[in-house]
Amino acid sequence: MKKGLLIVGLFFLVGCSSNPQEVSVDGYNGEIVLQVKVNHDKIEEIEILQHQETQEVVEKPLQEMIDHILEAQSLNVEVISGATDTCHAVLQGIEKALLQAGFSYEQIYRPYTPIVQEATAKSKQYDVVVIGAGGAGLTAAISAAKQGAKVAVLEKMNEIGGNTVQATAMYNCVDDELQHPLGIYDSEEIFFQETYEGGHRQAKPELVRVLTSQADEGKQFLESLGLKFDTVIDNCLGGAHARGHYSLAHNGTDYIQVLKQACLDLNVDIYTNTAAHEIMKVNDTVVGVEAVNEGNKIIFEATSGVVLASGGFARNVEMRMQYNRLLTGEMLCSNARGNVGDGIIMAEKLGANLIGMEYIELYPMGDVYDGGLRNSIPNAINHGILVNYLGERFIREDANRDELSTALLNQNQGFAYSIVDDDYSNNENERIYLEGLVLMGQVYKADSIKELAKLLEVDELILKTTIEKYNQAVDEQYDLLGRETLYNKIDRAPYYATMKKPTIHHTLGGVEINEKTQVLDTQGHVIDGLYAAGEVTGGIHGANRLGGNSFPDMIVFGRIAGEQAASHS
Ligand code: ADP
Repeated sequence: MKKGLLIVGLFFLVGCSSNPQEVSVDGYNGEIVLQVKVNHDKIEEIEILQHQETQEVVEKPLQEMIDHILEAQSLNVEVISGATDTCHAVLQGIEKALLQAGFSYEQIYRPYTPIVQEATAKSKQYDVVVIGAGGAGLTAAISAAKQGAKVAVLEKMNEIGGNTVQATAMYNCVDDELQHPLGIYDSEEIFFQETYEGGHRQAKPELVRVLTSQADEGKQFLESLGLKFDTVIDNCLGGAHARGHYSLAHNGTDYIQVLKQACLDLNVDIYTNTAAHEIMKVNDTVVGVEAVNEGNKIIFEATSGVVLASGGFARNVEMRMQYNRLLTGEMLCSNARGNVGDGIIMAEKLGANLIGMEYIELYPMGDVYDGGLRNSIPNAINHGILVNYLGERFIREDANRDELSTALLNQNQGFAYSIVDDDYSNNENERIYLEGLVLMGQVYKADSIKELAKLLEVDELILKTTIEKYNQAVDEQYDLLGRETLYNKIDRAPYYATMKKPTIHHTLGGVEINEKTQVLDTQGHVIDGLYAAGEVTGGIHGANRLGGNSFPDMIVFGRIAGEQAASHS
């Protein structure tokens, strides 16, 4: 273990009584021990005491990040360069230390406006400027560039990908070829109805219609760019119907790789570490974006249009609590750090109407340590059950995401064990993945229900009875809790289980758009030259989102936004 790498940032040391908080977190290669000194509400010093990370890799990025935090006096920093896993671990450690020191989440993530060098302002000319390099932004950039537009994409973080890269990434669309052999019957109309009803009729029906009628075309667009889809079709968690497609990576990484490559091929300029701060309007028309890169102001002129694709606001504790007081900083969150609602705030300043802001989706099966979406048992919902701390089922596992999350939060300690037997998958990659999780200690594996009960510290008789009753429901194809997806019994060892908690996942509200993705103001009029797509928008999912619908959302509306922005004059 390396000791004594000292990365110290000093801030106002004179005359301060310090109160060091020492914490340890899991880094990329092992434990990282760090110490944070505070004085009242000031962060004075952050020191890495011990680590096993590669020195050359972590030293510069970590130093930069710590300097930034000390300057900002906030963890709401935009720059996390290189060595990302290590930086994220250190951020987690600093958060832990500050909580120990009595800071609130609001203090820890207080808004920070960097000092901008106005004098050095540069100006760049483009036809279309896209804010945000997640799935929606990159898609918009591609479709604008395909129309012949010169396009810039601005990304505030050091890396592109946003939430898209972290998602479980199922893509819902009707697909007779894969669905019929499995006895699954579907249609655009069923897809529309399930999406609209699933959102408790709070979405704008015309937007749901666009989503559900163009999802298939969106998938073909991705395939034309080189994205390969697996041949499985599945029901995403809270998905209502088995119409979910996986790309080969079974997550968002290959989407972003393919979209990025297409941008490069089409000569789209992607500016990372470049945060949009203001959307510029002249004579009622949006004409560009003011952004900041490393403290320097850059004006990106957009002669055709601006596409807002800056994602949601789940990472902004203050903003999410403004709409739902229950979503405090203590709650887990699956989102990328850049998703703090910048785009919504900028658009609102221009008069954009916001809709559905109170609908903030919790993903029921978050990782209990970091709120992420990974480390889950494959097919756990379709092939397994959920039990509470007593070992009892408490909800039909195929319920909507909002019902599942509420049911989990209502259990003692707000968690559930997800349990499957050996029949959870025939896919070799999924089986290798799960054994990896077992080795990492993320998933329990047991040769009998008795052993499983012991590992989970639940009463053996209760767990046995729960599983017997569930197996009986599968035999009879009737479940007292109302579950309809009664595919397989839990009766073949080994058994696997993991603990899951709801995590704040997707902000369903945002700027209001019409079918052409034009942003609307509070009077229902179009804001000329401004388009929006992806999680920054509201009105597409309503009050609850069907699992598997966010990917078609960003592709379908991203494509429209890019085309519209490029053809606007
Ligand atoms: P979507 O699914 O809608 O594409 P993502 O979360 O995948 O949403 O992507 C949104 C991206 O926008 C993220 O990479 C985020 O860092 C970026 N972003 C957020 N605010 C800004 C901003 N002010 N300037 C530039 N990029 C931003």
